[in-house]
Formats: sequence, structure tokens, C-alpha cells
Amino acid sequence: MIPYSKQSIKDVDLEAVSEVLKSPWLTQGPKVSEFEKHLSETFQVKEAVACSSGTAALQLAYASLGVNSDSIGIVPSVTFAATANAFRYLGAKVLFCDVNPDDGIISLSSLEEMLIHVRKNCKLNIGVISAVSLAGKPAPLAKINELAKKYDFSLVEDASHSPGAYLESDNGQKTYSASCEWTDAATVSFHPVKHICCGEGGVMLTNCPELSKRAERLRSHGITRDTDQSKDRPWYYEQVELGWNFRLTDIQAALGIEQVKRLDSSIHKRHSIAQKYDSAFAESEFCGKIDCPLLHLGHAWHLYVIRFRQSAHRDQAYHFLKERGITTQVHYIPLYRHPYHAGHHKKEDFPGAESYFSSCLSIPMHPALTSAEQEEVIKALGDFLH
Ligand SMILES: *Cc1c(COP(=O)(O)O)cnc(C)c1O
Repeated sequence: MIPYSKQSIKDVDLEAVSEVLKSPWLTQGPKVSEFEKHLSETFQVKEAVACSSGTAALQLAYASLGVNSDSIGIVPSVTFAATANAFRYLGAKVLFCDVNPDDGIISLSSLEEMLIHVRKNCKLNIGVISAVSLAGKPAPLAKINELAKKYDFSLVEDASHSPGAYLESDNGQKTYSASCEWTDAATVSFHPVKHICCGEGGVMLTNCPELSKRAERLRSHGITRDTDQSKDRPWYYEQVELGWNFRLTDIQAALGIEQVKRLDSSIHKRHSIAQKYDSAFAESEFCGKIDCPLLHLGHAWHLYVIRFRQSAHRDQAYHFLKERGITTQVHYIPLYRHPYHAGHHKKEDFPGAESYFSSCLSIPMHPALTSAEQEEVIKALGDFLH
């Protein structure tokens, strides 16, 4: 079976994890701090707060920004459920924006329309835009930030797909996804199908020390030891607000440290896989039926998404490939289509998301994909189209 994505575990990972298991400390401890240091250096951001999942990281980011039941979260309609759910856990209202039909990333015109609507019609304490750098392509964060400023919204990047992705300016300056250059905070997931695997895990990144301090406190019940009383009495702590247990374990952090060290080389591998797909599909009849994505400089290639002209074709291809032992996936069913969110939304209001959703299929893309396996995928897709 060739999966669309999977983790890559090496001997160094096994050794690092078993070292921690032999140590006196299993839950959040020195390895988590070391992992956080690696993460802030890698993403060129001041503060990293590691936690139990990418979803928890989103919840910490939103909560630290002050989101509560008087708040509104704006998310693209094409994303994983968690981008919106983390707002719902805090009681906030979620609004869905349409996306660009060509890359599934939040549409700037749809976003501005929504911001105007909210500022005109809604009473709220705080509004947060959560932008997703889908499939590994950085969202246009500088432009989104201009809109956020103009309408007094905070901005979070859900960079679950895009650690290591970057935008390059005309003078060659690279700005990394998750670096928080244009955002209040960013989050990354360490689920096994993502770039860095911890089993489960996530991180909230920010350049704002007040935000990271609050996130650290919320990660552990809302408890702080940063009080005058704690100075003479080391056992003393205070719970100052309601938080959660969102701690990452040292066992997971040890795995994460080894994984983050390999981020560059794994993205390099993903690039060459993308290049091979690009050229295979450019020379065949594929381009008649599939719009091939361009190879973007700075793309992190979490997913390699092919596009079909008709959703019936996409569904047939899914089954055809499955019979050949190749699993593919659809990223994503637009959130407004799920029963939980349905009822308030008409799909006619989201032409971009409908078009993207009906045509997309993620084919195998991960650093452990061998070139024989990739040949098999290319061959199977060729056979499907003939
Ligand atoms: C994976 C993912 C998440 C959630 O991450 P978990 O670690 O699974 O909680 C959030 N947003 C997006 C876009 C994701 O792909």
C-alpha cells in the first residue's frame, strides 16, 4: 500500500525516545524546552509554546489573543475542521470565507467583504482571522495583515501544512511561514502525516512575549508560579484563569527534536518528488484533464494536489488508484458542508471552495516515498486517463 502521506522514523528517533524513557522525567520537562528552542530557531520567531496537538495550539493562540463567546473567528472554508473548532471550544462564532478556486487559499475579496459585514453589523470584543497556508503554499499574509489592521482584527496563521515554506522578496530576502512576520501568532501540527512527527503534538509561535506567557499558563490549567509568594516558597503556585492540560511529553519532544533537525532535508526530498510529478504530468496527456500545480519556490509540499475537470473523474480516480494499492485523499470537504455547520450556509455562496473541492485529489507525497513507488503512482494515473 502506498499512502498519500506517512511519517518517517529513523534509528536516531528510536534512540532519542528510548533515552527519555530511561530518564526520570517523562512529561513536559527539559526535552520540551529543548524542542521549543529548536522550533523558534527553525522558524525564526521569538517564542515557541509546544503543546499536545495542532488543535490545542490553535486553541492556545485564539485564547491568548482574548477570544471568548463575544468573539468572531474568520476561517477559510477549505481547511481541516480544527481551524474552526478551536474557536467553537471558546464559544466564539465562526464565519467561513470563500477561497481561490486555483489553490484553495482564503480569497482576499471574500475576506474583505466579510470584514466590512462584521464591522457594520456585529458587536464583538475581538475578531481573529485564521489563515491557512494550504498544502504548503504560504497564504498571502502581508496582504491579509493589511486587511486585519484596517478592520481591527488579529491574525493567526494555521501553518500546519507549511513549516519550512517561505516567501521570497525581489531582493532575495526569505520570510518563513510561521515566522509571525505579519501575524500575531502561528501554529504547526506534529501529527504523523505532517512534516514533523511527534505522534501527536503542536506548537504556538509568536513574537509577542505577553501572548506566549499567557499560552504557557493556559497550557497547564491557567496556573502560574510567577508570583511574589513563589519566591520564598517554591511549592507555591496560583491558578489565575481557567486553562487546560495541553502539555506535550518529553517522550514526544525527543522525537520532535530529531524530526525538526531533518526538516530541511525532508522538504528537499518533497521538492524533488514534486518536480518529478510536474514533469511526468507535463509530458503526458494529463494536462488535458488535470491542471498541474506549478513548482513554487518556497512551497513546503505537504500535499501534492492534482485537479480534475469533473468531480466524477476525481472519484473514479480515487477508486482506480485504491485498487492499485495507492491511497489518495481529498483535502478538504468545505467546512460549511458538514452537518455540524450546515443549516446556516448555502454552498452557492462559495463558488471558489466548491470548484476547488470538486476537483482536488492529494496523491502520495512524503519523504519516505521511493522512486519506484512514485513511478507506480505516475503509471497508475496514466493508465486511468487512457
Ligand atoms: C492537521 C491540521 C490541524 C490540526 O492538527 P492536529 O495536530 O491533528 O490537532 C489543524 N489545521 C490544519 C490545516 C491541519 O492540517
